[in-house]
Amino acid sequence: MAHSTQKRYANTRNITAKAPASVCDILIIGGGPAGMAAATSAKLSHPDSEIVILDKNEILGRKLRATGNGRCNITNTCADGYEEVIAFLFSLGIATKSKERGFVYPVSESAPDVAELLELRLEQLGIKVYKGATVSAVSVVPYCDKQDRPLDGASFNSGISFKTAFTIASIDNDYRMESQALVIAAGGKSAPVYGATGDGFLLARSLGHSVTRTFPSLTPVECGNSELTGLSGVRVRATAKLLKDGEQLYEENGEVQFTKYGLSGICIFNLSRMMRFGKGEGFDNFDISLDVTEGFNLSEWLTAAAKRAVVNRETVDARNSQRSAIEANSAVCENSSYNKLVEVFMTVYKEGLAMEIIRQAGLDYTSNASILTDADVRDKIIRSASDLRFKPTGLKGWKEAQCTSGGVDMHEIDDESFESKLLPKLYIVGETLDYDGFCGGYNLNHAFLSGKRAGEAAAREI
Ligand SMILES: Cc1cc2nc3c(=O)[nH]c(=O)nc-3n(C[C@H](O)[C@H](O)[C@H](O)COP(=O)(O)OP(=O)(O)OC[C@H]3O[C@@H](n4cnc5c(N)ncnc54)[C@H](O)[C@@H]3O)c2cc1C
Repeated sequence: MAHSTQKRYANTRNITAKAPASVCDILIIGGGPAGMAAATSAKLSHPDSEIVILDKNEILGRKLRATGNGRCNITNTCADGYEEVIAFLFSLGIATKSKERGFVYPVSESAPDVAELLELRLEQLGIKVYKGATVSAVSVVPYCDKQDRPLDGASFNSGISFKTAFTIASIDNDYRMESQALVIAAGGKSAPVYGATGDGFLLARSLGHSVTRTFPSLTPVECGNSELTGLSGVRVRATAKLLKDGEQLYEENGEVQFTKYGLSGICIFNLSRMMRFGKGEGFDNFDISLDVTEGFNLSEWLTAAAKRAVVNRETVDARNSQRSAIEANSAVCENSSYNKLVEVFMTVYKEGLAMEIIRQAGLDYTSNASILTDADVRDKIIRSASDLRFKPTGLKGWKEAQCTSGGVDMHEIDDESFESKLLPKLYIVGETLDYDGFCGGYNLNHAFLSGKRAGEAAAREI
């Protein structure tokens, strides 16, 4: 796209210090995908409305720009409301295509393109955007007395009477703003480098909402196995299973990446989402099992390897017995020609992984491969490769999480309009809500869907 990420659009305003409170119809805290969806859908539904987005960052949609490894897995054909999201994105000019497992991407597979396009639409629709504007407080201002009689100043620029207004303030109270409707789209706590650091929860709580316990979700998993350093950097296709107290909770097939602290990869992120525990429980209750035998007949391979190892041993022994006495003294050297157990896995598994499989089978990787003639030994290796165990000791934390598990209690939110059941004209959307989905486009789907619905509902109410 021609637009640079740094470009400031015509409607971008700088907050003037100590400015008097300004008013608008719909105020949106947060310019991520949920906030931008709310703003555009509200304006499209009610073109005369005055809509303002405030974002603490200098660039809108910073997290959005990093999604899907920069490719933006924008929704999933299995996600609730996905058709509505696709149609909404299409109406804004975002073309999408679906790929394997229902993953949907913009046709350009560029996350920055999507953020730029959304920002362009905000400008074209006349939505005001204030960047570098951190909202630190929000309250409800009564504009009517108990008999519903308007108090002084109880009308907006549009001249509509109203009973209450939301007022927000910045950290230093150097600006204030009032609105008829308020959308909290300030994200959760995951990947704080992109802007959201949990303010949405504090703001919602200050308006009376409950916030459920929050956990980092969709993160790499730390494991206690000290041997993991030898595996670091290895990638393997596996079926990963999460067990709690021996019971399987979840399984997914995909690429697993070993790191120096533990396990990573999309299927591991999805496992991390299921690692929740109550009082008295901990990571100790969980195990991760990897089956790395997929698509390969390991049993057949080991049987063939056993035969090769026997032939190899006989050949080396015969060579040794034909040597002169002097040469025979160097037989130690010749021993290195024996086929070692770990070598059997060359071209099957990376060396670090092969050593871990052998270790977990209770065998020595330097043993002569001819031990594979023993069916018990082969069974041990097959069992180990199909159930490699790793002990989680923790999750990688907020810094590397893609999503927040927990948030504003969904029981207090209307699940069609995303309006608060506690305060009329308050809407809470996106990652601030207690919703989190698996990897695969579910979280952006939720951000766009909740933002769109809230924007439309707010536009109807003003
Ligand atoms: C690396 C990474 C990759 C991901 N990839 C995918 C993917 O491919 N598919 C998918 O579905 N999901 C993905 N996700 C998750 C997805 O990005 C989030 O679910 C989504 O961005 C949530 O949207 P949101 O608008 O609710 O919050 P955010 O995108 O976090 O936006 C919140 C906005 O609010 C602003 N804000 C916060 N506090 C304040 C305040 N006090 N005042 C003013 N503004 C404030 C922030 O600056 C931010 O701009 C990924 C996440 C990460 C970290």
